[in-house]
Amino acid sequence: MAKFWRKLDKEGILAEPLVRYLWENQLTASEDDDDDIKDFIELMKAFGLLFEKNASEEDGRLFVVPSRMKTKPNNRLEIRKDDEQTVSIYVTPKDFLPDAVYDVLVVRFVSLSQDRGRRDDPKLFQNKAEIIFDDKHYVRLGRIYIDNKQSLKLEISRMKERDAYGVDKPTCKPHPGVCTEVLKVLKQNLDEVYPSKKVVGYELNILCSVCVNPEKPHFQELEYCLKNEYIHCYKTGEHIAMSTANVQNLFKADCSVVPVQSTPLITCDKTGQQMAMETDNAHGQCAKGTRDFQVMLTQVSKWYDKHELTNMLKLLYKDKVSIAGDLLRSTTTLDLFKLLYRNGSLQPTDLKIIIDTIVVTNTRGIVVQKVSDILCKAFHETNVTSFSIHRQKLIKLGRVLLPHEVKMLGGVYDLPKEQYKDQWTLILNLEMRREINENRMSPFIQVLKDIGLNHVATELDHEEECM
Ligand SMILES: [Zn+2]
Repeated sequence: MAKFWRKLDKEGILAEPLVRYLWENQLTASEDDDDDIKDFIELMKAFGLLFEKNASEEDGRLFVVPSRMKTKPNNRLEIRKDDEQTVSIYVTPKDFLPDAVYDVLVVRFVSLSQDRGRRDDPKLFQNKAEIIFDDKHYVRLGRIYIDNKQSLKLEISRMKERDAYGVDKPTCKPHPGVCTEVLKVLKQNLDEVYPSKKVVGYELNILCSVCVNPEKPHFQELEYCLKNEYIHCYKTGEHIAMSTANVQNLFKADCSVVPVQSTPLITCDKTGQQMAMETDNAHGQCAKGTRDFQVMLTQVSKWYDKHELTNMLKLLYKDKVSIAGDLLRSTTTLDLFKLLYRNGSLQPTDLKIIIDTIVVTNTRGIVVQKVSDILCKAFHETNVTSFSIHRQKLIKLGRVLLPHEVKMLGGVYDLPKEQYKDQWTLILNLEMRREINENRMSPFIQVLKDIGLNHVATELDHEEECM
């Protein structure tokens, strides 16, 4: 165990055996402690206390604990004008910045990067972190001081790009879709840390583009710039109104569903700079395919939204999305599709999960008729492989539950009203509370029978027999 303690102390890396050792007493009381330890770890991830690193063969799963990371001396992000490939956001607290905010954001951005299939080891320190965001972008987060107040700077940068022949492409600003997404993630997480903006709050700022003086930095509120046509500044000694068009272009809400990626890219930082290079010389081949894919996703998701079935899809995708918070926060079907896209479950070249979704939710005749023919072409195989039998049963369960039965069950389990606003939300919450547990369904089935919902119980009974 000493070796694991040293690893935690020196490298900020927590090995699974040490987690088990620390929780030993709490876990022996439980019947299925393996599930419990997974839940503990998920909880710690949700609170931004740790994130998963690539597992090692001898020590099992490994986690990085940001609060244990080392400080890199004389290496801070600076307040300065952005270069051609960077967009910066400054987080300035109204009163104070809780220490944990930095760690929480680091964990969040690393998980996003991992969801997108990035397996590079991020460069993490107590004062600065550099994380690859997607194939062409990386973010840097750092603790800085503004007016002697601890603040944060977030830089979104576009990597230098090189084509397949090794020729550098002209540098350009990050994709507006990426900036918008990073901003959204930033706000979501800050809003969780600052639940009441009135008492203790924060501002998101950018450096004033009128006076541009990093010595005596003057900031403009980002939100204001995005909503108004002009910003004003008097710092140069005269009143100047400047158009906000440039700022708005950086964050222009993106119309594409997923970042368009025309050719696969490799990334490399051995030159000292983050760089993306195309792996294929055949340009533009799949641009149209990607567009069709996006149109199809938008059509399908609109259909599910319109029929108020987004919560059903949340229940269906529960095992596919690693962070429960992401799932619960999604408000549209398109949000859910983006999560699937990010973790690789959904690709322009692999629509199996959409096909399986349509089959499991029994919406084939209705959805497919209306969408472009790429789905129809992919519809040759109807054997569901994307979802477990258990998950499919839960969808069936939701389809037979009537509104008054949903109310009754919500009451039996003493849930707050918002946790059973429909059958899908009810089932999802019962799962989160482990009342519905794949490995132990009989107590739940018994409850259904006890309150006279035998027809509902039958939907699940069959599964018990199979096991
Ligand atoms: Zn100014």
